[in-house]
Amino acid sequence: MNQTKKKIIRPTALAFLLALGLSAAMPAGAGTAYAQPVQEGQPAGEASGDTAQGGYWMNLEEGPGVAQWVDENGQVTEEPGVKPEEESQPAAETGEPAGEEAAEGGEAAGEEAAETGETAGEEAAGRVIDPARPMVALTFDDGPYAPVGNQIMDCLAEYGGKATFFVVGNRCASYGEEMRRMAAEGHEIGNHTYEHRYLDKLGAADIQYQINKGNEAIAAASGVSPTLVRLPGGRKNDTVMANVPMPMIMWTIDTLDWKTKNAQNTVDTVLNQVRDGDIVLMHELYGASGQAALQLIPELTRRGYQLVTVSEMAQYRGGLQPGQIYYSFRP
Ligand SMILES: [Zn+2]
Repeated sequence: MNQTKKKIIRPTALAFLLALGLSAAMPAGAGTAYAQPVQEGQPAGEASGDTAQGGYWMNLEEGPGVAQWVDENGQVTEEPGVKPEEESQPAAETGEPAGEEAAEGGEAAGEEAAETGETAGEEAAGRVIDPARPMVALTFDDGPYAPVGNQIMDCLAEYGGKATFFVVGNRCASYGEEMRRMAAEGHEIGNHTYEHRYLDKLGAADIQYQINKGNEAIAAASGVSPTLVRLPGGRKNDTVMANVPMPMIMWTIDTLDWKTKNAQNTVDTVLNQVRDGDIVLMHELYGASGQAALQLIPELTRRGYQLVTVSEMAQYRGGLQPGQIYYSFRP
């Protein structure tokens, strides 16, 4: 069983997508199909399946940041994301100017921070973050998806933690209740574009559309305007950098939860390498990821980590600037 089914790249992948009518979303001349992972109006139940039979990988040849899983229904569900360049801590980017940016980032981001109007915001709405203690930002991409998201939020509520949900704009209206809960409970909602497009495949106008429309959809559904972007697949180029006027949040721990769909694997990946200031990449679409979160939240808390949003962590660790890329926020 060396040659697992999952490793086979079927040339029919593209044809499959074309047959599904996804071709309309492809740019002229694009050599490979790109992610259209979650379709609008997708029934809530569909994405929760943890079974991986019947699907196959595509774009594996483009490297670990780009491979996509096509399930048995032909649905392209996920992108893995580009690994940060070898722990190249962007200390230069994140380290220096603390004061003003922290204030800026905080104000627009969390309602709590905005209310206190302070750089520290330590006791915003009763929430106490100790800058001297370790902290970690759990991030969940590709939602909203209430069956998993609510589970994660229930657990965070129990342990007093917050997370960041990077949601896809065109899904937001379908999960209004979940979105409002995210905002009400102090979680951060970030923009994962309107249609989960790989922005490095797009021109300036389309990039701006994906960002702006995503922001609008999130604000309409949750009442809060996002201040952070996560690039689908972590993919970027000069055009992306020039046309995304918000901080872009990468990660230091890539759990590959979308790929393994194995909760224990995700838990081990995080616990084996977690450090103060890490940003953990997980996905909201999968039951196994929710299960992993239910183990990680208590255990990280037990180990002394404060579970904070990205903006909260940034507030104490150098701040955020528009158009910049961030992988971690080390003390
Ligand atoms: Zn994604």
